Amino acid sequence: MAGKVLVTGGSGYIAGFIIRQLIAEGWDVNTTIRNLSREGEVRGWLGTDNTKLRFFAADLMSDDGWADAVAGCSHVAHVASPLPTSAPKSDDELIVPAREGALRALRFARDAGVKRVVLTSSVAAISYGQKGKTRFTEADWTDVNSPDAYAYVKSKTIAERAARDWIAREGGGLEFCTVNPSLVLGPLLAADFSTSLEAIKKLMDGSIPGLPRLGFGIVDVRDVAAMHVQLLTEAGVDGERFIASGPSLWMEEVAAILRSGLGADARRVPTRRLPTWLMRILANFDPTIRQVKGELGNVRENDASHARERLGWVPRPAEESILDTARDLIRLGVVKP
Ligand code: NAP
Repeated sequence: MAGKVLVTGGSGYIAGFIIRQLIAEGWDVNTTIRNLSREGEVRGWLGTDNTKLRFFAADLMSDDGWADAVAGCSHVAHVASPLPTSAPKSDDELIVPAREGALRALRFARDAGVKRVVLTSSVAAISYGQKGKTRFTEADWTDVNSPDAYAYVKSKTIAERAARDWIAREGGGLEFCTVNPSLVLGPLLAADFSTSLEAIKKLMDGSIPGLPRLGFGIVDVRDVAAMHVQLLTEAGVDGERFIASGPSLWMEEVAAILRSGLGADARRVPTRRLPTWLMRILANFDPTIRQVKGELGNVRENDASHARERLGWVPRPAEESILDTARDLIRLGVVKP
């Protein structure tokens, strides 16, 4: 099946791979960016059939442009949401655009007669702020009142909840489901890359002196994109959530993969562990470390068996995604080995 899809946030990492796959499969794609002055740059790195892709200016915080962007679309992938590299001054800097943007995408989609919206949520909306629990499924929800729920985690949880509440109240016949990825890695489209790749960059360029006891599930951007594309048209998934994640890896394991896969190019990747007590002290001075203080030593397995069993989704091994990220960071000159 092919028709026309709106993918929001066309300048983003995940959206880029979704757009590429949709166009390769014969869809026409409308995409939003905040400012049309970036259209040429984004078209350049997407490198897709330009005749199948149209750009519209729209911001998550304003109604302007949304009606035109969604006109004629049968499906929407709402991907845009703020994902900053450092902690914001106030939680609302992330929460408000995430929530308002999701509600705006849904409202304009319903009014345009769209059949289904797939929302890019996150495991941030599933597995945070639940002390003592280590395995998570789609039945779990992050506790936004926990001190471990930092601004981004709150923004994704509040946005997904608000979207589901709105669908129940005002959605009419609009179908809705979510993709809930863990840390997204893989090849880069451009040197302007997502925050999620920052950890690999920092390991490669030696800007972190050691390896904190942090663990995260990893998933490849190509597999996340493929799940979005499948969910746009898969029958019988209305209302569902799908975790998109591989098994959790410690930072030390990620560093070992970089060293064994890249040889001399990984010479700056640290080998020493950064003790958790030291990280806790550093958190008093560094807002970015403070964000992940509650994560130190946590094991968090986000179980993707629902996607495997229901969608036949088979993610590639994390090694491939980690090394593809690292090689592209070198290729694009972001990291100089
Ligand atoms: P990204 O490359 O930073 O893309 C984010 C996109 O959102 C960009 O296109 C950005 O536009 C847009 N955006 C942010 N604020 C906006 C606003 N106020 N108005 C309009 N557009 C706005 O990040 P990504 O990794 O592709 O993430 C895409 C989605 O996946 C997000 O919803 C994120 O929460 C979710 N996710 C990501 C990961 C991950 O590890 N990467 C994991 C789980 C979920 P500009 O280019 O103009 O800033």
